Amino acid sequence: MPHPPPKTAPPAQDDLRHESAQEPRAGALYVVATPIGNLNDLSPRARAILAGVDAIAAEDTRTSGVLLKHFGIEARLVALHEHNEDRVSPELVARLKRGERLALISDAGTPLVSDPGFALVRAARAAGVPVYAVPGPCAAIAALSVSGLPSDRFVFEGFLPPKRAARRARLQALAHEPRTLIVYESAHRILECLEDVVAVLGGARRVGLARELTKRFEESVTAPAAEVRAWLAAEVERRRGEFVLVIAGAPQTAEYGTAERVLRTLLRELPPSRAARLAAELTGVSRRTLYELALRLTPAEGQGQ
Ligand code: SAM
Repeated sequence: MPHPPPKTAPPAQDDLRHESAQEPRAGALYVVATPIGNLNDLSPRARAILAGVDAIAAEDTRTSGVLLKHFGIEARLVALHEHNEDRVSPELVARLKRGERLALISDAGTPLVSDPGFALVRAARAAGVPVYAVPGPCAAIAALSVSGLPSDRFVFEGFLPPKRAARRARLQALAHEPRTLIVYESAHRILECLEDVVAVLGGARRVGLARELTKRFEESVTAPAAEVRAWLAAEVERRRGEFVLVIAGAPQTAEYGTAERVLRTLLRELPPSRAARLAAELTGVSRRTLYELALRLTPAEGQGQ
């Protein structure tokens, strides 16, 4: 019997050998991912692009200078960070329009993922400048890939609010989210954050904690939240470094499913706040939860340009 066709076609040999893509094109912006700890994770293509562009926009020019020096890349660096990106982006787009080749990098991982770059990419696209991805490391995706938690659908939440009350409110709003959640957290808040996960989502909710990914002291555990909290509290060394928290989605209740359907219907006619209030009254699901959901179901104006 013939084999069924594969679900997706394998890449054509031409695509695999598309080496011309290593040379940056004039007037194009390259969004280049850099290592999140292990320098060997800088791809050959990323090296070639970074070596070939006229200038590199970097979040912290000193940090990126060290990386580039390690690879023997001499590049002109332009600072582009959260405090200046609105001002610098139009200047960089003007340079791109004059035919310069530019790359965008951040301190670690994929630019724009909890990092600067959105203003530049949006401005470049608005000006008709081609923007190319040079993909690579991303802590969120790396943590998800080793967590053993469902990865078919997930939500990236970036950093949760630093203050406890606001963090708990955010977790409460996400309590019914059925998709796997991914959050970044700093070393000095990771224990508090896990305590909040236990308090708000329950100690039985499964959680994957990834620490120091790709680095010397990399480790990751996946277990019920209460166990992960206890594991983290047991030794101070476990609370050092960089962390990603992956949280299993909520089991779907019939009550929440109904509330979501009611909300979707109301949103066709009403703004998010009124739709959420009515849906909460009709179904008994919390208004805050439904308001958060309503905001996610209603794309903000001006996005997606
Ligand atoms: N753009 C980056 C990316 O693609 O992952 C993320 C930048 S964000 C400002 C930095 C946060 O990412 C850290 O606070 C930590 O939560 C997470 N992170 C970065 N590197 C990591 C690593 N090696 N191991 C675990 N988490 C990491």
